[in-house]
Amino acid sequence: MSVRVLSEHDVRRLLPMDECIAAMEGALASLARAELHNPLRFVVRPAGEPTLMGLMPAHRGGPDAVYSLKVVCIAPANAALGLDLHQGLVALFDGATGATRVLMNAGAITSIRTAAVSAVATKLLARPGSRTLAILGAGVQARAHLEAMRAVLPFEEVRVWSRTAGRAAELEGVQEARSVEEALRGADVVVTATTAREPIVSREWLAEGAHVNAVGSSIPTTRELDTRTIADAALFVDRRESTLNEAGDYLFPIREGAIGPDHIRAEIGEILVGAAEGRRDDSELTVFKSLGLAVEDLAAAEHVLRRAEAENVGVEVEL
Ligand code: NDP
Repeated sequence: MSVRVLSEHDVRRLLPMDECIAAMEGALASLARAELHNPLRFVVRPAGEPTLMGLMPAHRGGPDAVYSLKVVCIAPANAALGLDLHQGLVALFDGATGATRVLMNAGAITSIRTAAVSAVATKLLARPGSRTLAILGAGVQARAHLEAMRAVLPFEEVRVWSRTAGRAAELEGVQEARSVEEALRGADVVVTATTAREPIVSREWLAEGAHVNAVGSSIPTTRELDTRTIADAALFVDRRESTLNEAGDYLFPIREGAIGPDHIRAEIGEILVGAAEGRRDDSELTVFKSLGLAVEDLAAAEHVLRRAEAENVGVEVEL
């Protein structure tokens, strides 16, 4: 049996941001219509190890049934080595026979699809007149989000804050902010894409009517937003079940009694299919808590495979 193998370069070429945004809209709407199976991710966290391995499986039935699995190792020390934090692969399997169809680089899929999902949320939730963007962090996700945010809104001013001075200025066409507060004051759209463990965003720095994409923390024990930000916000998520199990940004305020279980207004997919409303008025603070879903990897990988087959990209190996 031969299997197509696609490199990071192949994935980046075959998954332009605008096509990925459309694919993510489709996947999140399908999830809301219960057409996709997305179990919670399984995290392998050996005691005493700084690294972890996440397993993210998904399935779609029907005529083109498919299983997907992303295996991703997260290695915090990679940043200092100039390597992507996220290493691994995404595999697609024929849903009828189980045959492996493709193996591809996971880092590229992860960065592009995560930013594309934030773009979907921003299109739905940010005020249409939004012109000022603030990004916290200057790493892999920050860079992908800069492209994704520009794909959905015509920002006139982009401010980037990063912990290490000078890193923000490496991004094209942005102003480096000297503090989180300086980046956030007056910003219409905010992206938090750091590996911070404690809140770096204070409610009082956020402008009236701002929209925040909270991307960085994906585990129950870390967060980027303070309790008041979540308590004051209309909260939108990629998936309720994941939020209840994985989102420190949501679970800290719950544990502190600042919000109740009905605080999540909707999943993004529910807005896409018309089952829930989004922003109610221009003064509302909206937060999209992103955790990342296996169905996003499935949809992004399928898009890449379709184009790879059409354009004969990648190498075929016998498995
Ligand atoms: P990178 O290592 O490339 O970038 C991390 C950024 O966070 C850098 O700007 C770094 O600054 C900054 N940072 C590190 N520690 C702190 C701190 N204590 N306070 C403030 N800033 C800090 O990581 P990625 O861009 O790949 O990932 C960023 C986050 O996004 C991770 O937590 C990752 O798990 C999460 N993620 C979420 C996904 C989702 O679907 N929601 C998908 C993929 C990733 P400096 O340069 O100073 O080190």
